[in-house]
Amino acid sequence: MTLRVGIVGAGAAGVGAAYALRDVDAAVTIVEKSRGVCGRAATRRRRDCTYDHGANYVKDPDDRTESLLRDLGEDGLVDVEAPVWVFDGDGDIEEGDDRDDHKWTWTEGLTQLAKRLLARTDADVRRDTRVESVERGDGAGTWTLTDTEGATHGPFDRLLVTPPAPQTADLLRSTAWGDDRLAAVTDAVADVEYRTIRSILLHYPFREDHPWYALVNVDDGHDVGWVSREECKDGHVPDGESLLVVQMAPDWSAKHYDDPLDEASAEAASLVSDLLSDDRYADPDWVDDQGWRYALPNGGVDAESVRVAEDAGLFFAGDWVVGEGRVHRALWNGHDTAARMVDGE
Ligand SMILES: Cc1cc2nc3c(=O)[nH]c(=O)nc-3n(C[C@H](O)[C@H](O)[C@H](O)COP(=O)(O)OP(=O)(O)OC[C@H]3O[C@@H](n4cnc5c(N)ncnc54)[C@H](O)[C@@H]3O)c2cc1C
Repeated sequence: MTLRVGIVGAGAAGVGAAYALRDVDAAVTIVEKSRGVCGRAATRRRRDCTYDHGANYVKDPDDRTESLLRDLGEDGLVDVEAPVWVFDGDGDIEEGDDRDDHKWTWTEGLTQLAKRLLARTDADVRRDTRVESVERGDGAGTWTLTDTEGATHGPFDRLLVTPPAPQTADLLRSTAWGDDRLAAVTDAVADVEYRTIRSILLHYPFREDHPWYALVNVDDGHDVGWVSREECKDGHVPDGESLLVVQMAPDWSAKHYDDPLDEASAEAASLVSDLLSDDRYADPDWVDDQGWRYALPNGGVDAESVRVAEDAGLFFAGDWVVGEGRVHRALWNGHDTAARMVDGE
């Protein structure tokens, strides 16, 4: 009998799960609150620029990630070759240990990852649809989702929940299921904390030839956590222009999360111009931003507690389940969890 699978979230974990189920007798429905897919691996287009304003790239420390990305099509696949350098709280910059890892994205942006994976599935992706509550139909042993418009999705034999832990905990608090395991899972999920990052995009009508693609702060002593040059990604920034992705440090980001963009970007631009010892960077010709309240998990959930409801068909995946904020880790966690949903192992 066809297995009915519901997935909350079309980020790397949710899409990785759908991809794993592509050759299985399963009807997969993904419910995603945003208009786009790929979650925090996000891409935006503005004024002829394409920029990855959440995750910067996918790493491939394992062979299976590289071979998956290549299988999805070499066309438009971009490996950012310039290295990542480091800086400290005093703004001293030095060469980093880049270890020659690949840094993958696509000319059309990182969201290609989810788009290309989903194109190989028959999954029904319901975008712009925020799940508000979950209900267990105890007699039938199925799960049903209700969105913020009051529409229902399901019933599903298996449910996979992938939003960041605090949002998953909220969903579990609005889950109707008279089983003691619900409270235990909710407590375990609610324990996972996230760091906040405000990404600020600074565009300039000139391009400098730096030897690095990105600079990362390694001692948590600077208000800037990361600066990268989107022009190092083929097809992202027109010739002669540059676009800096500035990820502000978690403390700064939490404090200035709701500051108006002109104030926040002026401060970011001033910090970057000091860091790069170049006054021109204090004066971008246009700016943009994105707040990531739940950017990166501080750790992982207790692995056992989050699996106690699997025999009732309730599963979880995402970077907070593996305990590392990385696209490939979330992707494979979703992929491997989906295999367990089918095999029950
Ligand atoms: C600024 C920043 C920089 C980063 N840099 C890197 C990097 O360079 N390399 C790297 O590998 N990783 C990086 N990461 C981490 C990486 O983006 C994440 O670890 C990974 O994308 C997590 O995938 P996920 O599927 O677990 O979660 P998500 O991508 O968050 O997916 C969850 C999905 O659930 C959806 N959702 C949430 N609530 C609901 C609801 N109620 N109903 C329906 N849908 C819902 C969300 O919209 C989202 O699409 C970065 C993250 C940030 C924020």
